[in-house]
Amino acid sequence: MGNLKIYLDKDIDTELIKSKKIAVIGFGSQGYGQSLNLKDSGCNVVLGLRPEGKSAQKAKAYGLEVKTIEEAVKWADIIQVLIPDEIQADVYENQIKPNMRAGQYLMFAHGFNIHYKKIVAPSDVNVIMVAPKGPGHTVRSQYTEGKGVPCLVAVEQNPSGNGKEIALSYASAIGAGRAGIIETTFREETETDLFGEQAVICGGVSALMKAGFEVLTEAGYSPYMAYFEVLHEMKLIIDLVNQGGLADMRYSISNTAEYGDMTRGPRVIGEASKNAMKEILKDIQSGKFAEEFTSEMKSGHKNFDRLREENRSHEIEKIGQEIRSSFKWGRSENIIDRNKN
Ligand code: NAD
Ligand code: MG
Ligand code: MG
Repeated sequence: MGNLKIYLDKDIDTELIKSKKIAVIGFGSQGYGQSLNLKDSGCNVVLGLRPEGKSAQKAKAYGLEVKTIEEAVKWADIIQVLIPDEIQADVYENQIKPNMRAGQYLMFAHGFNIHYKKIVAPSDVNVIMVAPKGPGHTVRSQYTEGKGVPCLVAVEQNPSGNGKEIALSYASAIGAGRAGIIETTFREETETDLFGEQAVICGGVSALMKAGFEVLTEAGYSPYMAYFEVLHEMKLIIDLVNQGGLADMRYSISNTAEYGDMTRGPRVIGEASKNAMKEILKDIQSGKFAEEFTSEMKSGHKNFDRLREENRSHEIEKIGQEIRSSFKWGRSENIIDRNKN
């Protein structure tokens, strides 16, 4: 305890990144957020994209310069790889590696391909990470509000000797120095990120909300009531937790809710769930999950598509669409517009 070093803009050489040419490969969630923030921070940024793709159209509509991936890699000092994890190894082998040179910085927003050795970079190339701890669309929306999303930085290969300074300076340019940046390793970031998204923040939470919704509706309660109680209020509660921990949440809720929380919560997520989490962590550490995911995506992602469709057609999603189109939550502009970002 007490030995956590948090980097803020005041601790960082924020000018360093402005003397470098940055190629951002991909214009999806992170590519969109990071490239626009870099540009607005005064950095020299070019997108490396498939020339005829939809992403190239979207990026140009924001006034960003677009090159092919090959041209962008040749042009750049820093290559930030922001395409889906499962295609990074192929794109690296075919389009990035043949155009790379000694002394460049190969950068990632997640350690997956380096940690599981799907990508092995030559030893004269720097391998570093800047991983925002939030969705790319939020990286953008926070930046435009003068705030930032916290980031992790890591250095795996450091032939130039300044990998950490470059990573910090880049992280600052996407807004993270306004929030806080911490240093980690590729291994720790990869394994904890996968665990968090699988067991808790994405997998755990969505399964929890769906189960709660099913229990209420199967017991004959209105799906609209169920939606509000188990999904809509989640954000309002999490905002309190995010600001001041469980204590702030418990300060704000009623004594009735707090007593129910502390006595019933552990019955839902108890020893059995914790054991399931330990199994999930083991599969991450052994590389079993990485193999399963990679081969699923390589072999035509049938199972992935089926699960997506099943989840999309769950009643909680249909009810949610109906409710959200009728209510006004007070946000004037949506963070996600599928046609633009
Ligand atoms: P994404 O799925 O949104 O990226 C899609 C983009 O990749 C497309 O728009 C296109 O520009 C490009 N692309 C797709 N297929 C391609 C191909 N065959 N050839 C060339 N380009 C192609 O990706 P993302 O979710 O932003 O993730 C990018 C990286 O950031 C990943 O390593 C991910 O783990 C990491 N990350 C993502 C988030 C997030 O918010 N989504 C958060 C933290 C870290
Ligand atoms: Mg992740
Ligand atoms: Mg209530």
